[in-house]
Amino acid sequence: MREDPSIPNDARFETRAIHVGQDHREATGAVIPPIYMTSTFETGNPEGFDYTRSGNPNFRNLQAALASLEGAQHCTVFASGVSAITAVVSTLQSGDLILSEQNIYGCTYRLFERVLRKFGVRIEYADFTQPEAAARIAQLKPQLLWLESPTNPMLKVLDIAALSAAAHAVGCAVLVDNTFASSLLQQPLSLGADLSLLSTTKYSNGHSDALGGAVCSNDPSWQERMIFAQKALGLQPSPFDCWLTSRGLKTQALRMRCHSDNALELAKRLEAHPRVRSVKYPFLPSHPQFALAQRQMKAGSGMLLADFGHTQAQALALVKQLRLFAQAESLGGIESLVCHPATMTHASVPREVREAAGITEGLLRFSVGIEHVDDLWNDLGQALERQPANA
Ligand SMILES: *Cc1c(COP(=O)(O)O)cnc(C)c1O
Repeated sequence: MREDPSIPNDARFETRAIHVGQDHREATGAVIPPIYMTSTFETGNPEGFDYTRSGNPNFRNLQAALASLEGAQHCTVFASGVSAITAVVSTLQSGDLILSEQNIYGCTYRLFERVLRKFGVRIEYADFTQPEAAARIAQLKPQLLWLESPTNPMLKVLDIAALSAAAHAVGCAVLVDNTFASSLLQQPLSLGADLSLLSTTKYSNGHSDALGGAVCSNDPSWQERMIFAQKALGLQPSPFDCWLTSRGLKTQALRMRCHSDNALELAKRLEAHPRVRSVKYPFLPSHPQFALAQRQMKAGSGMLLADFGHTQAQALALVKQLRLFAQAESLGGIESLVCHPATMTHASVPREVREAAGITEGLLRFSVGIEHVDDLWNDLGQALERQPANA
């Protein structure tokens, strides 16, 4: 990644989010780089562009900004988070083993089970909050350790530093899906991971109007493989989506603080509510990995899980009463969303696998937005009042 001499070395996240990745505007003085809506480039241009599938100024700008915000030397951007996952797993060979956290994003699970297995890649799952998980890494000697922290939707917090050390002891690469935490709140590479993956669709862009994915690393050989996957597998994003995401990044620090403050406040109020059975939020003292979350993350982000102890029908009836929380998949946008994981994000995961991971019918996952917290609470409050008391 090219160093920009105009940005101080010790510039902080907020400053880098605005000033890094602003190339390709020198000739005009435009304050914001334009969108390079071109499929191809004339041969022999000074920057070495040839065809947008293998690179575009808007990709390079976004890659520079994301790398800087993740504390990484390298970043490659893709069309979506799932494209980024595809790029990483495409580096594996038949017979290789992925040892994965059991509670992962539903589409990651589907890609592992329905696509990768066909190519002879083996996949094993473990609950990495359990102390014996490190022993499984030593025993199975996988090629790739697949972590997500906090996990989707259970919000388990995994010890990235300890698990990375255990994996490196047997020569295994470590990937952390950093989507739920965001680059502001958690930096997996500084904790020892080899790869940090983002669905930039979520908190990086933050406005629910573009899709994207990214893989960050400090290892030139991983970067080479990711750039190869971007062009060879056709996983490249659109210049326009990159431009939107570059714009979104500029306000990420402000947004993340508000998402985190709102979610923590709602978590506390929900936990105290008689109609709520339990609440999971990494920065609540009741969270099983509260101490680890405080060490590993700067704040809890906007994701919150609550168990209403209901049947599926009752949980969905509660969702219907909400006015400010739209029922939708996805997360990390400025607007609040609610999701019923068992029938939505994790519907592609078989029931017994889902239940083993703790994803029960009464759970609702909230992506808390940056509206006023009292309006959000009033909305939840009125919906809870209309619910019959728990059986
Ligand atoms: C959304 C998401 C993805 C996939 O990203 P897309 O941009 O939807 O393809 C991967 N991991 C996590 C944790 C996600 O939330």
